[in-house]
Amino acid sequence: MDTPGPFDARRAAGLGYDIDPLSGSPSWMVPTRQDRPNLPIDSCPFCIGGIEAPDAYEVLAFPNRWPPFDDGRAEIVLYAPDHDASFADLAPEQARRVIDLWAERSRVLGARPDVDYVLVFENRGPEVGATIAHPHGQIYAFDMVPPAVGVEYAAITSTAFTPPSELVIATCGEWSAWVPPAAAWPYELLVAPADETPDLPSLTDHQRNDLATILRDVVARLDALFDSPMPFMMWFHQRPFDATDRPDLRIHAHIVPILRAPDTQRFVAAGELGSGVWFNPIAPAVAARHLRDVR
Ligand SMILES: [Zn+2]
Ligand SMILES: [Zn+2]
Repeated sequence: MDTPGPFDARRAAGLGYDIDPLSGSPSWMVPTRQDRPNLPIDSCPFCIGGIEAPDAYEVLAFPNRWPPFDDGRAEIVLYAPDHDASFADLAPEQARRVIDLWAERSRVLGARPDVDYVLVFENRGPEVGATIAHPHGQIYAFDMVPPAVGVEYAAITSTAFTPPSELVIATCGEWSAWVPPAAAWPYELLVAPADETPDLPSLTDHQRNDLATILRDVVARLDALFDSPMPFMMWFHQRPFDATDRPDLRIHAHIVPILRAPDTQRFVAAGELGSGVWFNPIAPAVAARHLRDVR
């Protein structure tokens, strides 16, 4: 990708990505990430004293050493100094520190003139490419509003955040966690507050404590489901930081566990990628009952 091709106009204009001429999807070319290590060679870089965390910390955010894009717009967020901790076992005040850090980094990155969107996310487990076991998440700060956010905003209905009770697996304060009625993945979850809080920085003290509680509960349920740490992808959708008013957008977390049974991964196959239609082997109400009954 050294020589600009016919479709590289956006990258040539300094945007850093290409637009697929068939689908319109943006794609960043990041050959430098091929060089990143699969596993730390000797010791964990995220434990206190490690290369990324030389000093004592409770929670920590720092620039990703292997960023998909430049300018400090990719960060790592460490949830705890304890290498073997899971979000589910964090003390309530420690989980709250993580949420405060997500909110603070969203605020700081979102205030940059070159940032329109802040995606807070986690890949958990080697099955989804987490190369370091130490509990951590990531942040990507985009210079545009990513397509997935635009798709949701175009499609959102007034009932999107009012789940049927049979799909709810847990509640805490004004937060609920539920299996979406058209879930694409067997144990997929949404976590959202009942009111229209738009982003992580706007969460109140109570909302932050309750989010900490419900996230710990949800992760514990997922781990208990097959009696083993559940590999999952999690991301927060929040309002874009591009100064456009979008009153319908509400902070929410998507959680996509990738197992459908013990040690059995759910693969997305050609019939799904090729059609854009999902075929979910477990009915949402059944998945919700499993997750309600597991603890
Ligand atoms: Zn560690
Ligand atoms: Zn969303």
